[in-house]
Amino acid sequence: MLFKNITMIDEKYDVIKNTNIVVEGNKISYIASTVPEEYCGEVYDGKNKVAMPGFFNTHCHVPMTLLRGYGEGLPLERWLNEKIFPFESLLTDEDCYFGTLLGISEMIKSGVVSFTDMYSHLETLIKAIDETGIKANISNSYLKVGENDDYFKHNSYKETELVRKYMKKSNNDRIRADVSIHAEYTSSERLVRQISEYCNSTDMNMHIHLSETEEEQRICKEKYGLTPAEYFLKCGTFKSKTTAAHCVFVEGDDFNILKENGVTVSHCPSSNLKLGSGIAPLKTMLDYGINVTIGTDGAASNNNLNMIEEVNLAALLHKGINKDPLFLGQKDMLNIACLNGATSQGRENCGCIKVGNRADIVIYDFDKPHMQPAFDVLANILYSAQASDICLSMIDGNVVYKDDVFTNIDMEKVYYNVNRIKNEKLALLRLPSDS
Ligand SMILES: [Zn+2]
Repeated sequence: MLFKNITMIDEKYDVIKNTNIVVEGNKISYIASTVPEEYCGEVYDGKNKVAMPGFFNTHCHVPMTLLRGYGEGLPLERWLNEKIFPFESLLTDEDCYFGTLLGISEMIKSGVVSFTDMYSHLETLIKAIDETGIKANISNSYLKVGENDDYFKHNSYKETELVRKYMKKSNNDRIRADVSIHAEYTSSERLVRQISEYCNSTDMNMHIHLSETEEEQRICKEKYGLTPAEYFLKCGTFKSKTTAAHCVFVEGDDFNILKENGVTVSHCPSSNLKLGSGIAPLKTMLDYGINVTIGTDGAASNNNLNMIEEVNLAALLHKGINKDPLFLGQKDMLNIACLNGATSQGRENCGCIKVGNRADIVIYDFDKPHMQPAFDVLANILYSAQASDICLSMIDGNVVYKDDVFTNIDMEKVYYNVNRIKNEKLALLRLPSDS
């Protein structure tokens, strides 16, 4: 495809006007102010359109779209134990398939080209991800069943190996297997060491929740005399390339630990605010040179997977709490949402638009009242744009979304099934269908 006469955000997040981008196979093969003479393929008119690199959502639990808005108005502990866990225990593979399609459609609509996920039912996640064309690093997080758990007999291990086998026989690298430990407070030290050793002996990445709440931080320090970051360091977890979600309460030497061990932070501002956890110290993390990225978390605690909203919130929130309008400038913020995310997933040649890179391109329509005039294209994308401004999304050279239509997702079927699942589960829980 040729994106003709389009405005483009380049690898340095500079705005290049009236340029032409050619995609061949899964790569960007040409970028120049002139149209290649010999080109005879499909042409996309770039008038009043802007080509942006796609977002990387680095923390999600994608099938949890099925629980969006369920159990609102309860404190965290009661919300989890009385609502979320009983509902989740009823979910089947087929349910998670439709929940995953719903989540992926939401992400694609808001400019996401790849996500990092932690859930279960990975066989059906593979099916949904493969069909839709998005990229993902997926993991089944270890959650403690008993003190004598053996990871190699645990479902988490079996599903991780299943994804690894899929990766080996697949003819593309869109889906990758990560190893996951849910959190310090849902595991035992013996198991954390066992899982970390397993991850270290492979080429997989690690995905964890870290220092999400004040209570988690306090109890860990009382129990081990260590912060959660110090605890995972001691257990050898950070020998693997790790993404740590939340990090709201990291403190003291934790910042050095994250930096020195190359740990990526997935900052999830909506989830942290909605659950009343707090605000992560992003400025300090960036001052230490930590690889910061953005995540939506699951839709049960957010309540959407809209990365445009998440990136916008992060930019505004940290200018506000630091009382500094110059903090997290447009280029810095977009780098956090795009290239840093690709780096965290171990995806080379992704995260920015340049020749030779994978063709992950999101097109914004600037022919909208709130997108005009365009004094500053990046400012409009970061502070004015809505998900509805995205008119095309290309991932690995394939158009997965164009003008409100998903190439590979039957949304009628998805809406029908997620509501069928909702009513079936409420009946099983003996709750009225409008609960
Ligand atoms: Zn999470």
